[in-house]
Amino acid sequence: MKASIVVLPGDGIGPEVASAGVAVLRQIAERFGHDFTFTEHAIGGDAIDRFGDPLPPATREACLAADAILLGAVGGPKWSDPNAPVRPEQGLLAMRKLLGVFANVRPLKLHPRAAALSPLKPERTKGVDLVFIRELTGGIYFGAKTRTDDAATDECRYTVGEIERVMRHAFDLARTRRKKVTSVDKANVLETSRLWRSVATRIAADYPDVELEHQLVDSMAMHLLTRPADYDVIVTENMFGDILTDEASVLAGSLGLSPSASLGGPGAGVYEPIHGSAPDIAGKALANPLGTILSVAMLLRHSLGLSTEADTVEAAVDYVMENGNLTRDLGGDATTHAVTRAVLDAC
Ligand code: ATP
Ligand code: MG
Repeated sequence: MKASIVVLPGDGIGPEVASAGVAVLRQIAERFGHDFTFTEHAIGGDAIDRFGDPLPPATREACLAADAILLGAVGGPKWSDPNAPVRPEQGLLAMRKLLGVFANVRPLKLHPRAAALSPLKPERTKGVDLVFIRELTGGIYFGAKTRTDDAATDECRYTVGEIERVMRHAFDLARTRRKKVTSVDKANVLETSRLWRSVATRIAADYPDVELEHQLVDSMAMHLLTRPADYDVIVTENMFGDILTDEASVLAGSLGLSPSASLGGPGAGVYEPIHGSAPDIAGKALANPLGTILSVAMLLRHSLGLSTEADTVEAAVDYVMENGNLTRDLGGDATTHAVTRAVLDAC
């Protein structure tokens, strides 16, 4: 098949891991006879430096026309002054809005070698295989804000339509897995959460084969640490999802290992590792490329519909996790390039 893939390397280790992802996509294209084209565009701090805009018009246009988008990471100390007129992260938020990608999907699986690095005891990490779906384009992060000298407000607003579409995404996904959805809210306190819960219950009626449970966000934060293996698909609103997915990423043993996809818009999905730009290790060939490579597998599966190819990439990563020399974050001393090479050899 033909596919046009936009690559946004971004900042810090972003370019290093993005090029690992592209190498894997090139190899898959060659092996399976696909015609993928890659075009690189600026985003984040890099785009601020070069164009004075964290999401320049050329990047916007390319993203709107793409079949899929592979992103490295954005941000870094150079642009982190809170009073700066523009910040790298604004590029990311603007891109998500532009593409209408309302569902941020983050699978969490624990390979035994990574589980050994997890802060959780082995008996708790055993069998963990869950997926977070975080609502990404609504809620308090996008609500009206006010500020006076002695008070500030942030409005949290959700419409029925916004909740419905992300809920359906969660139930559709659960159907392909262990058929359980955990909907996370704070319905004992928040009106938006009461709406969230009532929509979840109504949508569940359309999926009689899928079990729905409601969980308050505070107890979810606890259960994620005490019984993570009990969960299948966890769906929640924007801010709760932001916090819980960061908590979950620690369970994975290394930030460098977890992929993500932002989906649901009319056009391309956005695929990126969950880690940030890691300025402390940028340019040193220490970055673990596996989170990006697993994001590439999600890209193949979700945006291009190539599930055999996606399985191939995931199996190659499993093989390298099992047998290979890994990067420092996973206890090895291999470079980014060497780990990427090992995955290519296993593909
Ligand atoms: P951001 O604000 O951009 O989300 P962050 O504060 O979450 O950033 P990261 O940039 O993700 O932080 O880095 C957190 C720590 O994890 C750093 O010490 C970094 O070196 C390490 N780290 C992150 N990604 C990787 C990776 N791919 N390989 C190895 N180490 C990584
Ligand atoms: Mg972070």
